Parts: sequence; structure tokens; C-alpha cells
Amino acid sequence: MTPTSQQLHDWDKHYVWHAFTQMACYEPLIIESAEGCELIDTEGRRLIDGVSSMWCNVHGHRHPTIDAAIQTQLGKVAHVTNLGCSNSTTIQLAKRLAELTPADLDHVFFCSDGASALEVAIKLAFQYWHQCKNPKPQKTSYIGFEDAYHGDTIGTISVGGVDRFNAVFQPLMFPVHRLPIPDRRVPNKETSCQHHLQMLEETLAKHHESIAAVVIEPLVLGAAGMIMQPAGYLRGVRDLTQKYDVLMIADEVAVGMGRTGTMFGCQQEDVVPDILCLGKGLSGGYLPMSAAIATTEIWNAYLGDFAAAKQLCHGHTFGGNPLSAAAAMATLDVFEQEDTLAQLPAKIQRIAQHLSRLAEHPHVGDARQYGMIAAVELVKNHETGEHFPWTERHGHQVCQYALQHGLWIRPLGDVIVIMPPLAVSMEQIDTMCEVIARAVDHVTLSKAS
Ligand code: PLP
Repeated sequence: MTPTSQQLHDWDKHYVWHAFTQMACYEPLIIESAEGCELIDTEGRRLIDGVSSMWCNVHGHRHPTIDAAIQTQLGKVAHVTNLGCSNSTTIQLAKRLAELTPADLDHVFFCSDGASALEVAIKLAFQYWHQCKNPKPQKTSYIGFEDAYHGDTIGTISVGGVDRFNAVFQPLMFPVHRLPIPDRRVPNKETSCQHHLQMLEETLAKHHESIAAVVIEPLVLGAAGMIMQPAGYLRGVRDLTQKYDVLMIADEVAVGMGRTGTMFGCQQEDVVPDILCLGKGLSGGYLPMSAAIATTEIWNAYLGDFAAAKQLCHGHTFGGNPLSAAAAMATLDVFEQEDTLAQLPAKIQRIAQHLSRLAEHPHVGDARQYGMIAAVELVKNHETGEHFPWTERHGHQVCQYALQHGLWIRPLGDVIVIMPPLAVSMEQIDTMCEVIARAVDHVTLSKAS
């Protein structure tokens, strides 16, 4: 018998342990199906997917090309291991990614989620220094950034910097040099960028002998609240890592796959990292798939005869899964067929128009954007930037209002994130931003009066 909505609601609350959620306060939104940029819940309610189902969905849900590719793959094989075995779809995907990524980022290690791709990158960099041409096994430490999010494994929380998620696990984490990252809102952008690069240089000058890699979310710190870096910072980080012989790991799990307007975020500043990590949108947001893509220099350091025991000791049962690879291949096909990147400037511009209006609101401190990533930060006082007490959960209330008015969005504290599928229409952008404007009015002005 098909369960009722009420049963599903009750079972979800009782049996399913949700991510990053206080289950005592959890109220489910149960999605039954989806179409294009809309989700449909068990009550038949249609909601614009304003955060691309956690920043993953690129071309909309149930895209015919991606659906068909997965079905075709199902007709061949759903899963084979990539341990001592391979499959034609995954091989073709690796070749295509190597061709698409800049320079000689040619060697693809597949995993199933963003955290694992970063974990691989951290291990790849660590081991590289033991066995590269000019070994420096003392390079065992990392530079990470305050508030950066790279996943939830012990390795990724060590290089990450979101204290509220990580504090309880502190005893398990390895020590990392953690630096602040510049925020482009700081009035004197140049000084801020240069000042932060100077801090990085000081740390590198002092510790480079022991540092394996700098791990960075290029351009935008996502989970921190969509904090956007000033132009030139990423380029500066790359120049410094090269100057001090330290690897650069670019975590493009959130900003990759067209999100910033170019296929990869690093391309915005003509940067080629040593390891590029992708996830989320890699499979169009359809199936679990991520990748750590390394340069030939790193790949070569791992080559040797069997006795050299240089292989990376890492792997997951479903790494390189053929169904996920088929979804990823089709995702890349759609980028080409629909010329997705060429459609973005007009959409980015439309979002910008809405944001400039929202920025004037008496309870909006900042409305910011990088490509198809936008954020509206709620504050108590527009002039001073004073925040609301976090316990009042204004961001959550805005999202609840939006949910009642046909829009699914998720806050990061009091920052409202707008990250629709790249396939979102102009009309959907208008609806989304208008609902958010009304929600902000409803939540903040009704409180003030
Ligand atoms: N890196 C970044 C920049 C992310 O935003 C995320 C997730 O939001 C991750 C890594 C972790 O990805 P996953 O949740 O797939 O493990």
C-alpha cells in the first residue's frame, strides 16, 4: 500500500537521521518528483528549486538527455568496481574532463562526494612530497582558511574552518595553518587583497618547508555564507604557492560546472591549480559523483614498478560508477547542446537587477553575487550592519515564508542563498527574487513594527 503523506512525515521524523540537523526541531519537506527547475512535494505543491537541490542541479531535474543517458547505461551495466577493472563510460568521462580542464590537469580520481574528492586531494598532495623527483617528506602540513568548508570527514574538517561544525571533533583533527580570507566588501579592496596575500606570504616564507598544500575554495566561500573574494586574490594565491613550492588544491565542488559563468571557477583568474576537485554539479546533480583531477607532474610521481609501492592507497566501492559517469557525460553534452554558458550573462544580469533593489531594504546589509551565486544578508540595521541575534533565526523564517509561496531555498544563518539551476528561466528568476523580497518584508518589517 502506498504510504500517506502523514505516514511519510512521521517515518521521516522517526527513522531518517538528516544531515547537519537537530532532529528535535526538524520539520520535513518531502519531495515526490521534480520537473525542470521545480520540485513537487507529496501534497502536489510545486516549488522553484532555488538552491539547485544543495547547489548541484545544473540543467534542471528530469532533463530528457540526462534521463535517457542513465537509462541507456542501465541497459548496459549499473555498477562495476574500478579496482582492477574499468568501464567504457567512466573512461570516456575521464578523457573528456582531462580535455575540458585547463593545462595538464589530465588524471582523474573518481569518488562519490565532495568531501571524498578533497580527502583524496589532501592525501595525493601529502604522498606526492614523499616520492616526487625532489622528495621533501617533511612537507606534512597544510594552509586552510577560516570559515572554509571542504566536507565533513576528519581530513576535510582539519583543513576546513567552520568552527561551529568542527569544534566537537577538535581532538581528532590534525593541525593546520589557518588564515583569514579577504572579503571583497571591505571598503579598500586593493588593500584587503594585498594585505591578505601578504599574510599568506609571511606564513609561506616561514613554514613552506613543512607545508604540502594550500587548500582553497576559489572565489567564494560557500558554507561560510557566500563570502566573495576580491578580484586578484586567487591569482595571488597561485603565484605564491608556485614561488614557495607548495601545491595548490582548488575545491571547486560548489563553484565548478559553470556556476561562476565559466566552466571552472579558476578560469575566472586564469589559474591552474595542482589538483582540482569537482563534485555536486559534475553529474548534473543527478547521482553521486566527484573527482580529484591532478596534473601530470603529480601523476608521474606515483608511477613506478610494483615494488616501489607508490600507489595512492585510497578508493571507494562506488568510485567511477558507470551510471554516475553516464549522467556526467550527458551533463557535459547538455552544456554543449544548449550552449549553457552563453545563456548565463543575461541571467546573471537579471539577478543583479533584483539584488540592487533588495540591497536597499532596511533589513538587508548586503546583496552580493558572483555569477549564478547570490546571497542576501539580513541585518537588524542597514546603516550599521548590526546583525539580528542568531537565535531569532530570521534566515530560517524567510525560507519558511518562501516555502509557503512556491520557493524552496535554504539559509546559511541570516544569509539567504540564491543558487538556482543554471537552466532557470528569466520568469523563474523574477518569481524567486520577488518572493524573497516579500519574505524579507514579512519577516523583518512585521517584527520591527
Ligand atoms: N567543498 C565545498 C566547497 C562544498 O560546498 C561542499 C559541500 O557543500 C563540499 C566540499 C562537500 O561536498 P559533499 O557534501 O558532496 O561531501
